Amino acid sequence: MRTNSSTRCGLWAVFCALAALAAHGQQLPRTRYTISLAQAQAHLAHVSIELKAGADDRRMQLPVWNALYQVRDFSQYINWVKASTPDGKPLPVVAIDKSIWQISGASAGAKIEYEIFSDVSGPYGAQLDAHHAFFNMAEVLMYDSGARSEPLTVEFVDMPAVWKVATALAQCSPPGYCAENYDRLVDSPFEIGTFREEDFEEGGARYRVVVDADPADYDMAHMVKTLRSIVRTAAHWMNDRPYESYVFFYHFPRGPGGGGMEHAYGTAIEISTATLKDSEEWFNDVSAHEFFHLWNVKRIRPQTLEPVDYAKENYTRALWFSEGVTSTVQGYILLQAGLLEERRYLDRLGEQITTLQQRPAHRTQSAEESSLDAWLEKYPYYRQPERSISYYNKGELLGILLDLRIREASQGKASLREMFQWMNEHDAKAGKFFDDSAGVREAAEAVCQCQLREFFERYVAGTDEIPWNEMLSSVGLRVVQQNIEVTDPGFELQRMFGGATVITRVNQGSEAERAGVAMGDVLLSMNGKAVGPDPHEFIGAFRPKEEVRLRVRRGSDERELKFKLGSKQEVEFVVRDVEHLSTEQKTRRKEWIRGETRGAAHP
Ligand SMILES: [Zn+2]
Repeated sequence: MRTNSSTRCGLWAVFCALAALAAHGQQLPRTRYTISLAQAQAHLAHVSIELKAGADDRRMQLPVWNALYQVRDFSQYINWVKASTPDGKPLPVVAIDKSIWQISGASAGAKIEYEIFSDVSGPYGAQLDAHHAFFNMAEVLMYDSGARSEPLTVEFVDMPAVWKVATALAQCSPPGYCAENYDRLVDSPFEIGTFREEDFEEGGARYRVVVDADPADYDMAHMVKTLRSIVRTAAHWMNDRPYESYVFFYHFPRGPGGGGMEHAYGTAIEISTATLKDSEEWFNDVSAHEFFHLWNVKRIRPQTLEPVDYAKENYTRALWFSEGVTSTVQGYILLQAGLLEERRYLDRLGEQITTLQQRPAHRTQSAEESSLDAWLEKYPYYRQPERSISYYNKGELLGILLDLRIREASQGKASLREMFQWMNEHDAKAGKFFDDSAGVREAAEAVCQCQLREFFERYVAGTDEIPWNEMLSSVGLRVVQQNIEVTDPGFELQRMFGGATVITRVNQGSEAERAGVAMGDVLLSMNGKAVGPDPHEFIGAFRPKEEVRLRVRRGSDERELKFKLGSKQEVEFVVRDVEHLSTEQKTRRKEWIRGETRGAAHP
């Protein structure tokens, strides 16, 4: 997915020759996609694909997954497919499987047309309605499997005159947006509508902030100020800026929703207005996380995700690193940008440890296995605490522990930051992909000049209990376990993709069970308060014994259930200073929180 032109020219002389021809003004034949938005009200996009002359038989594939590590079979939304020759004679179309159509007689080129229903909102979706369109293109556009690496253009027609288009792709001639290949196209979402845009310059790059929301619900000037400090801090942390421009797409829906999706030249983020009003943390967290992904996963990329197989699951053991350690760095960026206080950071560290330790599956599922099983996350049972851990949660903790381990072993001369810079130089910029956990270990060992075999075997590939106090002692911290009484609603909640919070288990004999709460109910609100992005925190805001009115959606019905909340004992892990904090520990703490190393020169 990288588009560094100097690397490409070294590897693919043909591509460069074609690019040179284009630069001299000669029209190159390209695959052309035209998307009609005439039936926006009915959520129907009409797609037409003009294929160049070439093979007689073409296999047109619609991806089965994109944006989320979940098979979602986008072909379920295709109403019909037809094909014709460039001069309009019908061609036979044969379905090969649920997502592949074969067209015969296309040697002189062909026109493929189909109608697709698009009404999945949010950063992982494709949605067309009377208000706007937001498209992850892999969910809408088929590709010719013999021409996936060839250049193409996309044009939108039949849209309201007041609608504008925002995307990271450049406009080109013939009219439309150009991508050097299908992979780049589907890594570039489109927002089309009456969005608001603010641009800013920082460190020589242009940043675009595209917001589709009611202007009463957000403060653009404040957002720009926050984003400016995030991008400045992250580019400084990486000592790199591998792009000229970058787009932040935001949606702030009034209803439920939330999530972020990374791209090489942008990110799409959704935050419900209720969450946005509640605290700035979610905006800061998700923006810093998705921004750092432009390095980690988009450019510093595991070999197991390359090339992407759009036809089936891409199994990788590296999501603990690509996702979890992205969260580690997200925390560091916010600390160093002055957007997160040290005490709050340490409290959140305690919450992350609690989350991992409370799930019995931390003894049976490793961080690597959790990565491999990501494809099961769409099933509510898989998310039970006995069945799985989160590679975000354990990966974020492993990132912190790896940072501290590298710092200790190198006498403070190296850290996670040097490790990422090493991977950026040796892998990303060299056009290479890293070998999952072994590749991370290689980079870590290179910068610490130490052996990390045991760390990776026990805590990354294995399920050994993490000795928290030993791991945190270099920075003068320890973990204290305390029994606390917490609110027990009588059921388990999980937040699913797309933002819905689902009841995944109802405890036997609970008040909730007596009131008729059922597994699979979607929780909408409790006592009128809309459910937020963190179900645990949401429940924690209610007191034990409180009478509640629970509003749930079951199938297409909404209902209200009344009952009294219970209480239960829980073990909570909190992060505190060690008893006698030494000067060395204080210094190491300061270096860790500030992202500094000894004797290393960061420009
Ligand atoms: Zn992520």
